[in-house]
Amino acid sequence: MTRTGTRTMVRVRGGAPEQAVRYERLPCVERVLPSDAPYVLAARLLQGRNTEVSVGRAVFGASRVEIIGGPCAVESEDQLRTVAEAVAKAGVRVLRGGAFKPRTSPYAFQGLGERGLELLRKIADEFELAVVTEVMAPEQAELVASYADMLQIGSRSVQNFPLLEAAARTNKPVLLKRGMMSELDEFLASAEYILVRGNAQVVLCERGLRSFDRHTRNLLDVMAVPVLKRLTHLPVIVDPSHATGRSELVASAAFAAVAAGADGLIVEVHEEPEKALSDGRQALRSAEFQELVRTASAIAAAIGRCV
Ligand code: PEP
Ligand code: MN
Repeated sequence: MTRTGTRTMVRVRGGAPEQAVRYERLPCVERVLPSDAPYVLAARLLQGRNTEVSVGRAVFGASRVEIIGGPCAVESEDQLRTVAEAVAKAGVRVLRGGAFKPRTSPYAFQGLGERGLELLRKIADEFELAVVTEVMAPEQAELVASYADMLQIGSRSVQNFPLLEAAARTNKPVLLKRGMMSELDEFLASAEYILVRGNAQVVLCERGLRSFDRHTRNLLDVMAVPVLKRLTHLPVIVDPSHATGRSELVASAAFAAVAAGADGLIVEVHEEPEKALSDGRQALRSAEFQELVRTASAIAAAIGRCV
């Protein structure tokens, strides 16, 4: 039995299909869903209204398009403070930054670890920002949750089920990135792992799929936004930085996402991209980021939303 707001979901094992019809006729039963569905709690069918996820002063899934900004990785106190000040000035309410970085090569910068978490908390507080940062292993979940306002589960971890469960147990909002090869139903089934543990605060993030053309790092699946909005009541945001991998393409991807109905964006920002320890090629400078926010705001207004 699972309770979601005003509804209670009762799982029935076995039983013939004709029994479902009998249950559906009961006055206390709203709907009978097939038990082989990979996700139920995440489905729009179960809950018509949009779920709103609050993170500090930000609310994902409401009328505002929430923009998250910050560096790929926390590198130093000065680097983070410069970026945090710039994103706060742009009106952003959530600071991103990796302390534990999933890098393709074990020789690449792996993040500052707990020191990175300390810096995120300290500097975010200076500018009244909330913090979202990645958790890579189940045993890190409590530690990351003790510093962060929202836990990010990266693309590479989308089907790390023990990690999804550990993140759910912290009761912090979770930013779940779509895997670079995830079908949308698989993605929603991953979200279901968090919801079924009683944590309803999940924000989904499309971040581009692995494809064959090398002109962009990944292929942004813009249509994932309206499709997901139909399939689920959970907020859906887009990461134009990892989707494109190139700073000169980030704004175009961000604008397409807002026009397609995304509930937010997560954008990488670095004051000196050429010196960045990770993902410098896709980082926007502060001024470019502020310009992106201004235009995104005009696009949001055109579809009855705001930034
Ligand atoms: C990130 O946001 O820093 C990141 C590693 O993203 P993804 O998991 O989408 O590759
Ligand atoms: Mn990155």
